[in-house]
Order: sequence, then structure tokens, then C-alpha cells
Amino acid sequence: MTALKANFVKIKGICAILIENPSWPNPANIFVIPDDDKGFCLIDVGCGSDSSIKLLLEGLNKWQLDIKKLHTIILSHAHPDHMGAVGWILEKTRPRVLIHHQDAAPALDPVNLIEAFDIPLAKQRLISDGETVDFQQFDLLKFFKDCGCSMNAARKIHQIHDGEILAVGDCVFEVIHTPGHSPGHIALFERQRSLLLAGDLVGPSPAWYTPTSGGVVGYLESLTKLNKLDADIICPSHGPIIKNPAGAIQKIRERLLKREALLKEALHDGSRSFMDLNKALIHNPMLHFFPGCAITESHLIKLEMEGIIRRESHIVIPLNL
Ligand SMILES: [Zn+2]
Ligand SMILES: [Zn+2]
Repeated sequence: MTALKANFVKIKGICAILIENPSWPNPANIFVIPDDDKGFCLIDVGCGSDSSIKLLLEGLNKWQLDIKKLHTIILSHAHPDHMGAVGWILEKTRPRVLIHHQDAAPALDPVNLIEAFDIPLAKQRLISDGETVDFQQFDLLKFFKDCGCSMNAARKIHQIHDGEILAVGDCVFEVIHTPGHSPGHIALFERQRSLLLAGDLVGPSPAWYTPTSGGVVGYLESLTKLNKLDADIICPSHGPIIKNPAGAIQKIRERLLKREALLKEALHDGSRSFMDLNKALIHNPMLHFFPGCAITESHLIKLEMEGIIRRESHIVIPLNL
């Protein structure tokens, strides 16, 4: 495993710990908003691993901030690469932890992620399609732990809502509810700076999605919302700063729609089973169970809503391609 590295930069006055390799299970980027009196707010906190916490402390040290003066954490959503370090932080100090109300349950008790990730649905889809069920015993929280990015609970949270204004340091963030990847995923828009913290929705590649998290329909609607903000710059949760927001949003949209086109193509010669379509969409067999099943299901829900397919048990029947 290569050592975890980060770039410590300032973007329009906001301090950022940008993790060099954006792929799972590496931590999400962390944003630091200092006050005049050396208190500060963190937007996402990264994984709870020693290497991730080391980078967080390196950043704080660079900007001469003491972890004990952390007063607020804003979480883009309740995933372990964004909030795993909360466990370690809460042993040092007691900041307010803000999260969208639809991600409150897994932030308080990680076991609730199993539903948000649609793990029961994936197991059901495999069984109904007669697949050998290697994944019946799959344990999501153990999976995070084995990857080195355990999920940790926030002991107490303050719930936030779409449209709410959060003033921290000299920043004024508008909360934008952007489901798709997580039910309570938020983006934060700093209008004066024309700067958008887009969470996991925009970056080098699309985030995965599940029906419970908002699915592909939610993801596409969220991208439309983000595009309307007309931001000058996007700070994504994974990957480098984006200087062409409209282009980056469009690229993600195209990749989501490409999957829809692939499904339609696979149905061109007639009915197919769910797993056949899953394999046509997701090429890496390691990903067929998760997030494959949840992504495929999300697209089938959209196509069903639009009258393009119908389903009989695990068979998908084309109607109007
Ligand atoms: Zn995530
Ligand atoms: Zn993430």
C-alpha cells in the first residue's frame, strides 16, 4: 500500500487538505475554516485511521490551529471516509456536529448504513436470480473496518435542512440537499466566493448510488441543482480542485446516462435477467454485489417510471426502447 499523501492549500481563503489519491478507502478531502480567534470549523474529517488523522493534524499544525479549539464539524454525509475520524476527535474535544436530517440515523448509529447502502436488496436480487450467494454473510461495517476506514458514530448531532444558512469564520454557506449517493448528502455553496463544496457528487468519476440514497433520479436532479448555482470553482470531496464546474457536472451526467444507454442496448434483443443486466453494466466482478446491484436497480427504477421497461420477478422486459 502506498503512503497516504495530501496537499495543503488555500482556496479563496478556505484551507483544504486535499488527499492525493481519491480512491476508496482513502479519506475524503477535509476543509478547514478558521475564525479570527483561532477557533475553527471542519467540513468533513476523513477516516479514523492513523494515517488519515496524521494528515488532519499536519494541516492544523500548518495553519496553527489546536484541535481543542474545534467548535463545529459540518458533515457532507454519513460515510466512513468523511466522518470516520469523528470517534478520535470526540475523545479530544466536543464540537457541534452538523448533518442533514436524512443522514442523522447512520451518523448516530453506523448499523443504519446497511439500509442506506441497500445491502438487503442486493442480497435479495442475487438470491432471486439464482446466483451462488457468497455474499449472504456480507457484513458492511466489518468490510469498512477491514479496509482500514471504520465507521464511527457522532454521539450527538445537530440536524440541518435544505436552504439553511451556516455562517462559519468569514464564510456563509447555503446548505443544498443533494441526494443520490446518500439520502442526506449535502453540497455547500459560498455565494460571495462563488465556491461550491460538492461532496461526492462531482469529481474524477461518479459516486455510486442506491435506490434508498436517492438513486440515479436523485443524482441527476442534484446535478441540475448544482449546475444552476453557476459556481466559479468546485472543491470536490475526492480529487483535485475543479476550475470548470459546468464541464465537470456535465461529464458526470454523461457517465450516468451512458449506463442507461448500456442497459437499453443490453435489452435490445429482448428480456434479460437482473443479473445479466448487472454484469452488462458493471464489468468488475468484485463490484457486482455492491455497489453493482444497487446501481442497476436504481437505473431499472428510472426506466420503469418512464415506461421503457417492466419487470416480472427478476426478468426485465423491454417495452419501449
Ligand atoms: Zn460517500
Ligand atoms: Zn466519499
